[in-house]
Amino acid sequence: MIKKKNNPFDFYNVEELFDDDEKLIQKTVREFIRRELLDVIADCYEKAEFPKKLIPQVGKLGLLGANLQGYGCAGLNNTAYGLILQELERGDSGLRSFVSVQGSLVMYPIYAFGSDAQKEKWLPLLQKGHAIGCFGLTEPDAGSDPGSMKTKAIRKKNSYVLNGSKAWITNGTVADVAVVWAQTDDGIRGFLVEKGTPGFEAKDIKGKLALRASVTSVLYFSDCEIPAENLLPKTQGLKSALMCLNQARYGISWGVIGAALACYEQALSYCEQRKIFGKPLSSFQMIQEKLAWMVTEITKAQLLVWRLSKLKDNDHITPAQISLAKRNNCWMALEIARMSRDMLGANGTAYEYVVGRHMCNLEAVKTYEGTHDIHTLVLGEALTGHSAFGNK
Ligand SMILES: Cc1cc2nc3c(=O)[nH]c(=O)nc-3n(C[C@H](O)[C@H](O)[C@H](O)COP(=O)(O)OP(=O)(O)OC[C@H]3O[C@@H](n4cnc5c(N)ncnc54)[C@H](O)[C@@H]3O)c2cc1C
Repeated sequence: MIKKKNNPFDFYNVEELFDDDEKLIQKTVREFIRRELLDVIADCYEKAEFPKKLIPQVGKLGLLGANLQGYGCAGLNNTAYGLILQELERGDSGLRSFVSVQGSLVMYPIYAFGSDAQKEKWLPLLQKGHAIGCFGLTEPDAGSDPGSMKTKAIRKKNSYVLNGSKAWITNGTVADVAVVWAQTDDGIRGFLVEKGTPGFEAKDIKGKLALRASVTSVLYFSDCEIPAENLLPKTQGLKSALMCLNQARYGISWGVIGAALACYEQALSYCEQRKIFGKPLSSFQMIQEKLAWMVTEITKAQLLVWRLSKLKDNDHITPAQISLAKRNNCWMALEIARMSRDMLGANGTAYEYVVGRHMCNLEAVKTYEGTHDIHTLVLGEALTGHSAFGNK
């Protein structure tokens, strides 16, 4: 066998782009995942259980809201934040989803649109993992088109009364606080609804094929009365909700690289060990073509998010730039997971190997936070000036 000259797991030495702090953060999270998640995740997945016992450690490591400033948050740059999500998703998309929802969809809206009292009450608790949050935008009849939501919040003297429902909500039944988006006389606004509020109920969605080690729920609001001060005062229409989604989509673009790397690494080592027709599987041309494609796409994806992190650090990032990365990287990771699953043959369908689990997870990750096609339309509009979303 010819000696390998390149590192198959970092073909372009992308790691050289990271400073010492970023490398240390990446290593710390990677070791945490190896130590605490990898041995238990297949079992959690099979039983459809979120590994909740890891939340205190995730909080202690400073992974929640890690790119926010103050309130106990780590205040990291967006490269370090992205690397955290990459290493979490190398373990499982479910734990990464938990961290993304908590940081980008619960802490960020409170941070960006909340009152001082809301920030002081919730951000330190959420940062430590002492409280859990969820984000309710999607409804049974409003996913890609959240502007058509039916949930309403009617203003009374000192309160709002919520009626409606939200579907496919990560963390719904385990959340202490829900960021809920609703129609008001003043357009779409965001509200904080606390667990236990009369008229608010959450139920888990059972029987998922994807993201099984993640809690996904339906939220019901039936004459649910919340104090007027639970309105997130700086929210202004759907654009505020979309600003939260942009934070999460940025993180997903990094996260899915972790899942892709886990699949590619397993496919490469499996094909080296597996002997077929008297030779290692990795010595066949069609297998090599697949591996070459994988390492090329992973390398391109890594460079894409690294550049995106610099645009985000400098506040020069646009939603369409984030769409490009979310769309490309989810597609790349899912294709790599599907290909790896195939290369492992029957073994690829077993929990003992990571590829099948990542493949199923990535089907959901490709759909949530804007489907592949929705991001195509975002890019189309950015390029041409014509909106092709629908009739409105
Ligand atoms: C595991 C999981 C967790 C989730 N967590 C959350 C959460 O925490 N909070 C939350 O609010 N939501 C969450 N979601 C919901 C998710 O964001 C939605 O599923 C997603 O936005 C797509 O909406 P939909 O499922 O209603 O699909 P639809 O909007 O019905 O789309 C169906 C298909 O139509 C296509 N399509 C839609 N519009 C167009 C168009 N104009 N032109 C061409 N094709 C189009 C889509 O690309 C897709 O292929 C979660 C979903 C999953 C699966």
